[in-house]
Amino acid sequence: MTPVPPAADLAGPSVVPASGDRRRHPAPAHLVFFHGPMDCGKSTLALQVDHNHTRQGRHGLLLTQGDRSGTPQISSRVGLRREAVELDGDTDLRLLVRDRWAAGHRVDYLIVDEAQFLTGAQVEQLAELVDTSHVDVYAFGLTTDFRTRLFPGTQRLFELADDVQRVQVEVLCWCGLPGLLNARVVDGAMVREGATVVVADTAPAPLAGAEADPGGAAVRYQVLCRGHYSRGQLEPTPTGPGQLSLR
Ligand SMILES: [Zn+2]
Repeated sequence: MTPVPPAADLAGPSVVPASGDRRRHPAPAHLVFFHGPMDCGKSTLALQVDHNHTRQGRHGLLLTQGDRSGTPQISSRVGLRREAVELDGDTDLRLLVRDRWAAGHRVDYLIVDEAQFLTGAQVEQLAELVDTSHVDVYAFGLTTDFRTRLFPGTQRLFELADDVQRVQVEVLCWCGLPGLLNARVVDGAMVREGATVVVADTAPAPLAGAEADPGGAAVRYQVLCRGHYSRGQLEPTPTGPGQLSLR
């Protein structure tokens, strides 16, 4: 018999319990996923959601991934920041929360930044926390990688989340159209193939969207509209023959 995925029978929030004794149970928790391109304000929204819950006396645990600062935190480009717990692909999120409880800490909700880097199994762990432990989960992540494909964590969140919302906060292509896609730019030219690298959406300003390529090339990311992503056009006036090269 094929094992049933944990959230395969996930009931929507509109389902009414047959017994009608809902008052004896905690309010149903939810798994909510906010997604968008780089620079769309996901981390700012994550910190705002945390703030709103804190003001209601709830206790949250903030999680992130790919933070290279050594002091993990969720930081936004508008200057907000809060300490966070750094995850990796081996972290069992159920154990993480249970360890907090065992140490006497309340965890009413989770804020998960850089959620695109979660494994499918970790997204299933989040769904289990929602369904069996009534922990609300608010996940924030990139939609697609530089190849325009869904990140694995993003795909599983699309499949399992109670609510999926696109964040679109004034991130524009150079042409003024909404920026939808993240282009990887190596030594000034757009590339469409290669490994997906774990790099935080909100690296410190000098490093924002930049990383070191194993070969030593300068790598950065740029948000483009779909048309200019398709054409590989990074700016209004091509400056040379290399500008439109589609590697
Ligand atoms: Zn454009």
